[in-house]
Amino acid sequence: MTFDRVVIVDWSAASKPSPARESADAIWIAEADGGTAESTYLRTRAAAEDWLRARIAAARTRGERLLIGADFAFGYPAGFAAGLTGRAEALAVWEWLAAALSDGPDNRNDRIAVGARMNRAFPGLGPFWFNPTPQDMLDLPRMGRARHGYGPLAELRAVDARAPGAQSVWKLGGAGAVGSQVLTGLPVLWRLRAEGGVAAWPFEPCADAPVVLAEVFPSLLAREVAAQIPAGRGRHAWPVKDAVQVRLLALALARLAGDGALAPLLAPDVPAQTLREEGWILGVGNEAALRDAARAAGEAALPPRPDVTTRAPRGTGPQAARAASGPLTPPRLRDDCFAMPQGVDWVPVDDALARLRAGLTPVTGAVTLPTSEAAGRILAAAPTARRANPPMANAAVDGYGFAHAATGAGVQRLPLLEGRAAAGAPYGAAVPAGAALRILTGAPLPEGIDTVILEEDTATDAATVAFDGPIRRGANTRRAGEDVAAGAEVLPEGHRLRPPDLALLTALGVGEVAVRRKLRVAVLSTGDELRDTAAAAHEILDANRPMLRALIAGWGYAPVDLGAAPDDAQEIAARLDRGAREADVILTSGGASAGDEDHVSKLLRLRGTLSSWRIALKPGRPLALATWDGAPVFGLPGNPVAAMVCALIFARPALSVLAGAGWRDPVAMTVPAAFTKSKKPGRREYLRARLDAEGRAEVFASEGSGRISGLVWAEGLVELGDGGAEIAPGDPVRYIPYSAFGV
Ligand code: AMP
Ligand code: MG
Repeated sequence: MTFDRVVIVDWSAASKPSPARESADAIWIAEADGGTAESTYLRTRAAAEDWLRARIAAARTRGERLLIGADFAFGYPAGFAAGLTGRAEALAVWEWLAAALSDGPDNRNDRIAVGARMNRAFPGLGPFWFNPTPQDMLDLPRMGRARHGYGPLAELRAVDARAPGAQSVWKLGGAGAVGSQVLTGLPVLWRLRAEGGVAAWPFEPCADAPVVLAEVFPSLLAREVAAQIPAGRGRHAWPVKDAVQVRLLALALARLAGDGALAPLLAPDVPAQTLREEGWILGVGNEAALRDAARAAGEAALPPRPDVTTRAPRGTGPQAARAASGPLTPPRLRDDCFAMPQGVDWVPVDDALARLRAGLTPVTGAVTLPTSEAAGRILAAAPTARRANPPMANAAVDGYGFAHAATGAGVQRLPLLEGRAAAGAPYGAAVPAGAALRILTGAPLPEGIDTVILEEDTATDAATVAFDGPIRRGANTRRAGEDVAAGAEVLPEGHRLRPPDLALLTALGVGEVAVRRKLRVAVLSTGDELRDTAAAAHEILDANRPMLRALIAGWGYAPVDLGAAPDDAQEIAARLDRGAREADVILTSGGASAGDEDHVSKLLRLRGTLSSWRIALKPGRPLALATWDGAPVFGLPGNPVAAMVCALIFARPALSVLAGAGWRDPVAMTVPAAFTKSKKPGRREYLRARLDAEGRAEVFASEGSGRISGLVWAEGLVELGDGGAEIAPGDPVRYIPYSAFGV
């Protein structure tokens, strides 16, 4: 049994949303795809349910098999399911709980009351216990030892007894309790399962199910996880342990799946009725294989990356940074404005570009257009010359034509034939050797003429033409096909037609060309503050949309206007839906960070099929790259300067690939700097720049990314590499004129 992807969920029974800052004891989900895994932090169960639903849908769309592991018990000790529901099977409890529990979008829920209600289904008092409220509850004891008389229910499931550290499912709260996670987790799984294509292991046949749910227990990898976390770090330290353990477990299971070694884990040697009623933890009984895979995956997936800038969140100090050795990227301290979410590397610009380049392919089909209307369009096929250029040998100047063989050195006098050959008016007869004919530029050479003498080099009395010999044979003539032969391939597929291309194609008889359908690029602005027309002082006029639409049109694509959406997830989702329907690719601006109001990045993480990248670039943080219903989405930053730079650096070449024109790096030039700058290492920087009268690059006085006037002052960008640099006037720098970006 194999899987293409593994998702591991670390559940939380919290009664309010988890902190905005990535924290422990919240929902952490890791998704492993081959040798890499990404972890995602989710603040509510509702968000996690949506996230999982979206991953299931994405996997099914792609025809991939998905294994979802969740870290709470899928069943209760033998006898409980039958006592509660009359059916001795765990799935009956799932169904019961899904109907009984109410759990809001803000995590508020009635699990304690549900625990009490389940106790009432059994005689005596119990088995559930723990009461976090100040009031005593009739049916839910505060202490485990107060329970009595509820019958022969064991404290642990058979599998818990074999998993060191596993807790009893009866305890609903207190240190290390798991009971509430089961109560809040199973209803979610029940709903996901009910939507089809999802089988719950080990209760149902899983061999052919596209998606399989399985119980996991990250503590099975306690030692391997500890090896990934620097010693001496508290609960709030980076990296968050929850993130590390879901990631490692996902990687380990993905590795086993990839090696075809998952089958023994899915077939534990346990009585069938135990599996049916209590469930099982994937990997219990095969711990060694799981741990070996975790060690191997951990080493392979998390190489040290000393050249990549990383960032510690607030609260970690230089000691923590020093202690951070081992396979995880060590956090290094830097100034705070570039703080990044925990445990995530900054992707260098070139890596990001390389990944984009490798990952994208053309998405547009072909249409046929008259050549005259195809300027700016991208060739979908290489046209071939229908005729030669020139089609016939002709005169390159105004003068007199004759047969070279009848001429020699010294003064030549040739009798002049009546009539003439002109462009568009061929002579129509052969010219005898020794005679000359008046011939004008572009006129086809009549039979018998192979050489033309320039009018200014002759004297004539209308009957004779005289000139000084010798003259070179073929002088002042153009051979047929000397420019392009008939049948030649003149322009490659993917070429964007420029005005001279239209000239050549037309000359070659290519009256129609197959070009790519125009790439449709949707543009969406996001932000509660944005308006299209005169606004109150606290409102902001949407500057990005006109800029981005004009860039798109200037690049030869068709802009699709999605308007400006407020910071409202549903509204943004609706616009993205429209964008995915009506366009091939979507550019958004604003809301791409990881803050409270950054709904674009949140949505893309939740419902998109790629996670966002954090690119080491200034100005430009943040840039989110994802897909929405199959449409690539570039989540550009909100600041107009950063939006423009990211559009030029990332969107431009990527759109070019999607449009069928291939990757196009802008042509930069090296010029002396006219400025001084001390640049820190770790990220690529683009400065608004222009050339001064001496051809040196001067840069805009302020680097503030809100300064749209700087974009306008500039005529290009100076690109400073990822490393640190001390730039003094006269030092060579890379300058990329706007024109190289097609602006
Ligand atoms: P955000 O990325 O949403 O945090 O936005 C960053 C900054 O850019 C904020 O000051 C926004 O008001 C501003 N901003 C976002 N979108 C636009 C836009 N379309 N036009 C002008 N300013 C914007
Ligand atoms: Mg915003």
